[in-house]
Parts: sequence; structure tokens; C-alpha cells
Amino acid sequence: MTTKLVRQQTVITNAFHRNLIDWFRQHRRLLPWRNKRTPYRVWIAEIMLQQTRVDQAQPYFDRFMKRFPSLRSLAAAPREDVLKCWEGLGYYSRARNLHEAARHIARDHKGRFPRTREELLALPGIGPYTAAAIGSLAFQLPLAVVDGNVIRVLSRVFAIEEPASSSKTTRQVQEWADRLLLQEDPGTFNEAMMELGALCCTPRGPDCPNCPLRAICQAHKKGQAEAYPRKAPRKKIPHKLVAAGVIINSRNQILLAQRRDTDMLGGLWEFPGGKMEPGEDAVACLERELKEELGIRVRVGDELLVVAHAFSHFTMDLHAHWVKIISGRPRAIECADYVWTPPAQLRMYPMPRADVKIAEHVMARFADGTAT
Ligand code: SF4
Repeated sequence: MTTKLVRQQTVITNAFHRNLIDWFRQHRRLLPWRNKRTPYRVWIAEIMLQQTRVDQAQPYFDRFMKRFPSLRSLAAAPREDVLKCWEGLGYYSRARNLHEAARHIARDHKGRFPRTREELLALPGIGPYTAAAIGSLAFQLPLAVVDGNVIRVLSRVFAIEEPASSSKTTRQVQEWADRLLLQEDPGTFNEAMMELGALCCTPRGPDCPNCPLRAICQAHKKGQAEAYPRKAPRKKIPHKLVAAGVIINSRNQILLAQRRDTDMLGGLWEFPGGKMEPGEDAVACLERELKEELGIRVRVGDELLVVAHAFSHFTMDLHAHWVKIISGRPRAIECADYVWTPPAQLRMYPMPRADVKIAEHVMARFADGTAT
């Protein structure tokens, strides 16, 4: 290696190992999971933060810790309670996997949190990113974390030209992160990288003048920080029309159906229904769906409300209608289970966000005496 290259590498390593770590010590946020750090708390925080912003996750983390203060308490809880505590955070497979993993650790590891990469990867819901985060933060394993923040920082510092979503970029970023990892303190290094992406090297308006990596950052040198990471052409997100039936019986009870574990939002309770087929309106859709899902023939009444909701991969308008059963007794044919509940108890069941809005509307209609 030439002297020039060695000098360049030393400058890069110093920027990450000194400037970045010093910056982190001065700017790190006081976050609840950074207090009383235990493998259990690190794990719960990392799973919550997989798809959720820090400010959104904080109250959920506090509530979760209050309700399930230890791995054993989580393992011993009914799954319904775990889902209820997770309600509103989305991506519910995370909660189901947490619960399953807690039971696995309690049973097969005698409650002691696994501490090798292989054992961590064997737990439900833990992939390479989460294994690296837990391994480094809780056990100081030399594993470099690559999340969205790290991809942004390294794409800018090294002006990576491939789109961020490409596997080539992920590979390149992982190689850089592995090479740069501070072996004596991998946990702090990983946290510093993620914190820089969250506070300084933000997607819009990065604070380059105050960045600890500005001297080596190629995107900054080109005056094109925001042009990195490169974006792949946008795919159009589909929009779906969906109908939900608020089925009411003669005792003024409402039927809720439980989604199957294999479905999106599995384990949650909802007002049954489904996607409108081409040419169908909400009425025709509910007549068909409720026959398929619950084996009942129904009369569909007035529309209660329309809930607009966006998931990461599609948007939907959910049309909720009052429904009465004309014939048949409900059977759980295309759902995991069903239950009749008084309107006042609807919110006891863990539900997807859009169904929470319907439940609150139904409860308000019963409270003011305008329910159908
Ligand atoms: S100099 Fe700017 S673009 Fe480069 S890492 Fe720092 S904040 Fe990000």
C-alpha cells in the first residue's frame, strides 16, 4: 500500500473512531432504553425501533416495561395482552415474535438471554441487523449494525452511486461498517453511527458544518449531500377499496373476527369484511365476504364512516357499514376466531388502527343513541 493510501485510511479511521465518538458523547439523547441497560431492554427497544420512529416508540417502550418488566413476565403473559400493549405500533408480527422468543428463552435457555450471534439469530423475529444491535449493545460483540441511518451516512461519506435499496449498496455499506467498527467498543460505535444519522446526517437538510465526518465526506465535498443515498425510481403504491361490516345482533352485541396468524396483522381483532372485487360496491363485497369468512347471509345497512389509511405498501379506503344477519350462525371459516361483544367493550380487543377508528365511532353512536 502506498504512503498516500495509508495516510488516507488513517484520516478516515480517525474521523470515525475519534471525531464521531467524541461527537456522540456530547450529543447523545437521553432515551429510556439507554438507562438501566439490560439485554432484555435492548431487545425490546431494538424490535420497537425496527419500523417506528424514536419519538413514537418512547411511550410504548415505557408502557411495555411497566406491563412486562422482565423476560419472565413477558413469557408468562397471554399473547392477547402483548398484542394489546403493542396496539397502534403496527407490524404486529414483531409483537407475536417477541412473545414467542421470550417463551423460547424462558424454556430453552432457562431465562438467560442468548449471547452469541448464532443463538440470537435462532430467535423468532431476529435477523442480522437486530442480532448485531443486541450483540454489540448488550454484550459488546464485534458486529457492525447497518440500518437506514447507517446506510445514509456511509452512502454520503463514500458517495456510493448505486441506489440505497440495491443489494450491492447494502453489501458495500456492510463491508465499510465492518471495516470501520471500533473493536474495543462496538456498542458505542454502532450507537454513534445511528445517532449521527438521526440527529445530524438527516435525510433533509443535513447539518454538514457541525458534522464530525465533514472532513472526509465526499458528498459534502461535492456540495451534494442530499443527493445521496441515490434513489431507485419510485414504484406506484396501489390503492384498495375495502369494506368492513359492523354486525349487530338482537342483544346489541357486535361481532369481531380475529385475523389468522398467517395474515397481515395476524392475531388482531377486526370488523370482518375484505377487499372489493372489480365492479363490486361495499354492499356486494360484504354480502360475499361475510358468507365466505363466517358462513352467514346478511343485509347490509347504511354506511357508518369511511376510514382512509396508509400502509407501507398500499393505501386503502375502508367503508364501514351496519350489518344484520339474515340467516346462518357465524363460523370461523376464513378467520381464526370470532366473538360477540357489547359495544362498550370493543376497545378491550387489540385491533388494527383503522378498526380502532370504527370501534370508537360505533361506541360514540351507541353512547349518543344514534346506533342503527
Ligand atoms: S458531512 Fe454532511 S452529508 Fe457528510 S456525513 Fe456529515 S452530515 Fe452527512
